Formats: sequence, C-alpha cells, structure tokens
Amino acid sequence: MNYKQFNNKVIVRIDKGEELVDGLKTICKKLDIKLGSIIGIGSTDKVTIGLLNTKTKKYQLKEFTGDHEIASLVGNITMMNGEVYLHLHLTICNVEHKAIGGHLTSAIISATFEGIIDIYEGQVTREYNDDVGLNHLKL
Ligand code: FE
Repeated sequence: MNYKQFNNKVIVRIDKGEELVDGLKTICKKLDIKLGSIIGIGSTDKVTIGLLNTKTKKYQLKEFTGDHEIASLVGNITMMNGEVYLHLHLTICNVEHKAIGGHLTSAIISATFEGIIDIYEGQVTREYNDDVGLNHLKL
C-alpha cells in the first residue's frame, strides 16, 4: 500500500494480496481523516459483499472468488465511537463482464487498487438506528 497527499486529496495504491478495507482504514488513521469520500477501481480475486435484509436488519453476505475487476468503488468516511468508519459500496465484473454489486465487507486485491480520497473539513459521526438496522449519519 502507498499513498500521496495533495492538499485535500490523497492518491491511494493498494497492492496485490492486501485487504482493501483494512488498507483504506489504515490510510485514514495515518492521515487523521475524519470526513471524506472515496472512489476507486482495481481488481480482486476474493471479495465479500452484502445486501441489507430490511426485515431481519442483517446483512446477507456472499463471497466471490476468481478474477474480478473492481469496476467501481464508492463510499464515504465518517467516525463512530472514536474510530474511522468506512461505508463502501462496490461493483465488480466477472469473466463474462457481468456486474455484481453490494455493500463491501472485504476484498483481497489481485493486481492493484487505485483510489482517490477527498478530505472534507469537519466531522460527522454515526448512531445506530434500530428502525432500519443501520448506523445512520448523525446530522
Ligand atoms: Fe451499505
């Protein structure tokens, strides 16, 4: 993993074999980023994505293995209980170029990941909302 900061933007590279969510969280901690957005592209060969079941209020998780392009990662950076909180969604494409997507839980990078973090001034935290079973933005 490596990164380079230019004012309020950070260019990110996460390498083969590294876990994507851990890598992004580590960079946010090192640079003390408390609020921001993330976009990125890359590739993964082991990824777990979720879908929130709104009746059970639990994520249904599914793992995909083998070569997949990360066609699009988009997400935000906030704080919860004093810790960096990443909310990331992912679209991946398989060998047939079919897209699959969902809430990103973990992804092992198979070649590279290239991301851009936008840093915003201020801080936004989250609180659990029992009605929907999510950690809502506290605004
Ligand atoms: Fe989500």
